Amino acid sequence: MKYQFSNCGKLLEICKKNKLPISQVAIRREMELFGKSKPLVRNKMKEVRNAMWHAIQKGIKTTTKSKYGLVGTSAGKVYAGVKKSGSMLHSKVAIRAMAYALATTEQNARMGRIVAFPTAGGSGVVPGVLFSTFEHMKSSKRKMLNALFTASAIGIAVLEHDGTISAAKAGCQAEVGVGTAMAAAGVTEMREGTPEQCVNAAALALKNMLGLACDPLGGLVEVPCVKRNAIGASIALAASDMSMLGVESFVPMDEVVEAMMNISATMNESIRETALGGLAITPTGFRVREKMGLPPVPKEYLKKTPTKKCGNCKGCN
Ligand code: SF4
Repeated sequence: MKYQFSNCGKLLEICKKNKLPISQVAIRREMELFGKSKPLVRNKMKEVRNAMWHAIQKGIKTTTKSKYGLVGTSAGKVYAGVKKSGSMLHSKVAIRAMAYALATTEQNARMGRIVAFPTAGGSGVVPGVLFSTFEHMKSSKRKMLNALFTASAIGIAVLEHDGTISAAKAGCQAEVGVGTAMAAAGVTEMREGTPEQCVNAAALALKNMLGLACDPLGGLVEVPCVKRNAIGASIALAASDMSMLGVESFVPMDEVVEAMMNISATMNESIRETALGGLAITPTGFRVREKMGLPPVPKEYLKKTPTKKCGNCKGCN
């Protein structure tokens, strides 16, 4: 098998040997692995692209809150910032990327149709970054599609390198974190970065998501998930800019993935999608639990939580 890769290092070797960008290796891998024709592979990705765009369009226009009222009103507010970009600190492309990421994940919270790319919780970063940059660059549809293939190749390489996209296993670093790395690589190829620059952008992005807890309030994929995707979009753009400007990640991408998995092995279950740690057990998190009728958080998860009144006497240990 000529186009199969087991990590990002191998992916780059195939790109170099065949003088191909990452997107084209990803397409050939799919054709080779599943015996599909190129038009079939591309058409399937077109369906993904269209579904992403529909979710964005719907999410931008909708202000209905999610069932428990935690999220649903941010996308439109941030999108309005695109018109005020002169008074914003971020560029127009970054503000729009954040708005699109919010639109997608708010749709997810409303149980609307989205593409879990790589997961539902982390579904906003890739479409946010790619569609915003596509508009900014007035890019071709072909380039947009290729960027999605490049993003997908990074996700595949993470999984093939014994990484994960499961928050239950590795926390949010594996969901929004990996999504951010995928977006960084995809947008870098859209900007005509080399395969090395794409993978380097992914490494820069993922490094800065390492250790990220999965700590959703009430166990709902809403807070902090929705806004975390928007910030992920901003990080992906920063990583792409740095990579295009020649800044290299000192630690290569495959090692960053290994670091993510090492961190996951030390992560307490309370911050791995159980809603028993981090933001989920703040006073606000408790209020959400109560509103949802969930049982109180067991004591063993609370004893290490410092409060304002805590004198650190260790009496509670
Ligand atoms: S906090 Fe957890 S549920 Fe929310 S996006 Fe991150 S991994 Fe998914």
